[in-house]
Amino acid sequence: MADIAVIGGGAAGAAAFGELLSRYDAGTVHWIVGQHAPGRGVAYATCDDQHLLNVRAANMGVFQEHGEDFIRHAARQLGQVKGTDFLPRRLFGDFIQAQVGSRIDAARREGRSFRIHPESAREIASRGAAGYGVRVGADRWVDAAHVVLAVGALAQRPLRTVSSTALASGSYELDPWRLDRHPHPPRRVAVIGTGLTAVDTLLSAAVRWPHAELVAVSRHGLLPFTHSAMPLTPYAGQEALNRALSHCTNVPAMLRKVRIALDDSPSPDWRSVIDGMRPINARLWQQLGHDRRRQFLRHARWLWEAARHRMAPASGEAIHQLREEGRLQLHAARVLDVDGTSPLQLTLRERSTQLVNTIEADLVIQATGLDTAVAYASHELLSQLLHDGLAVADPLQLGVLAQPDGQLLRADGTVQPGLHAVGSLLRGNLWECTAMPEIRAAAHQLAVKLAKEIGRETSVDVALEGL
Ligand SMILES: Cc1cc2nc3c(=O)[nH]c(=O)nc-3n(C[C@H](O)[C@H](O)[C@H](O)COP(=O)(O)OP(=O)(O)OC[C@H]3O[C@@H](n4cnc5c(N)ncnc54)[C@H](O)[C@@H]3O)c2cc1C
Repeated sequence: MADIAVIGGGAAGAAAFGELLSRYDAGTVHWIVGQHAPGRGVAYATCDDQHLLNVRAANMGVFQEHGEDFIRHAARQLGQVKGTDFLPRRLFGDFIQAQVGSRIDAARREGRSFRIHPESAREIASRGAAGYGVRVGADRWVDAAHVVLAVGALAQRPLRTVSSTALASGSYELDPWRLDRHPHPPRRVAVIGTGLTAVDTLLSAAVRWPHAELVAVSRHGLLPFTHSAMPLTPYAGQEALNRALSHCTNVPAMLRKVRIALDDSPSPDWRSVIDGMRPINARLWQQLGHDRRRQFLRHARWLWEAARHRMAPASGEAIHQLREEGRLQLHAARVLDVDGTSPLQLTLRERSTQLVNTIEADLVIQATGLDTAVAYASHELLSQLLHDGLAVADPLQLGVLAQPDGQLLRADGTVQPGLHAVGSLLRGNLWECTAMPEIRAAAHQLAVKLAKEIGRETSVDVALEGL
């Protein structure tokens, strides 16, 4: 028997577990989900229906063969739903749980073996050719020939510019999804960050505290761009553009090609050009060497993230309304210091004037988004993997070193056999690997590969035993 352990109770873990469950029968499939409701992870645990998917309903699915399952599921709750809609993320969380539930029912009927562990994985020990032991909870070990890490993004670390007094004050919130921890209505809320997480935080804060002033700060003060209400016509020259891009080895050359495409006649909507690059983004990223990737992260990342990960039209409209009403102020500024108790003082250097000024806020919420710097994280399992040399941090702090198929690499560049990752830990290798379309494709490919490889090895072992 060759068991497989999937670690992580979010959408990526659910996708990997469900894909394995339906095709792997050479051993038990373990799903180690942690303490939270399995399948929802960070993105789909929200109960606030202002928090919308930023992908149209038709493109959301957990498993590779998803068809219109999510649309049908949502229609049962909402009535009429169109594939072009941007629906509440809560609904997708319900859907993931229902989809995994049906795969579990099917596995039971077909006599496949699986086990769900409602605890965290705390350590992985190499057992040589036998695979790995995974310590689950206090002191229970799960043996597995292969382990799939789907632990998602890391918990936010406080910015270096936040004083220990501010952190201890109770007025600095490191978890943007926990506004419920602040029962007293603040007069002013400052959100650090202006990405998708910040947008959700601002929308929730605006409803929760209708009299609070809202301030959002980031270096460029740029909110995500907004999706078009209806899908756009694909750019006619996309194939030629993607071919041209695949010969570029630096970011300025890529940007020049994109700019030429945008000047094409009839000029395409820039959003369809960016979306049309999706199939080649991982390849483009891999074409860039270390220095050019760093250059991209320093100079172009902020703009790419805002253009690529856009907000739903309704979220864009609600944010626009808050700004029109004067309730939301945006600052393009660097946060130099956060100090004090209540209110907190934020010292900012404004980008346009370089002037330094201080604003006060009763509550400061850090919403700086996806953190993949494993070397600095306080994640027990990842720290242990790095310490024991089973995983190596990406030099640009984008997860861990891995092959494009998700198999982890050791410091000497050789493969760490049987240890795989899905999702944001692979950013260093794939860059675009954190949204459901990429996650479900990766989970599917991994499950097919493991079912083929281990299934074959196991049947040989069984045949040899029978001799
Ligand atoms: C706010 C937000 C909105 C998003 N909206 C969309 C969207 O609309 N469409 C889209 O396609 N993508 C969206 N995304 C991208 C999102 O990252 C993916 O869709 C997906 O949810 C990622 O899931 P994950 O399992 O990789 O990570 P996570 O959601 O972070 O889940 C990881 C899980 O693993 C658990 N875990 C960690 N360590 C351990 C351990 N040692 N043992 C056991 N469990 C562990 C964690 O507690 C967590 O539950 C959004 C992301 C965010 C943050």
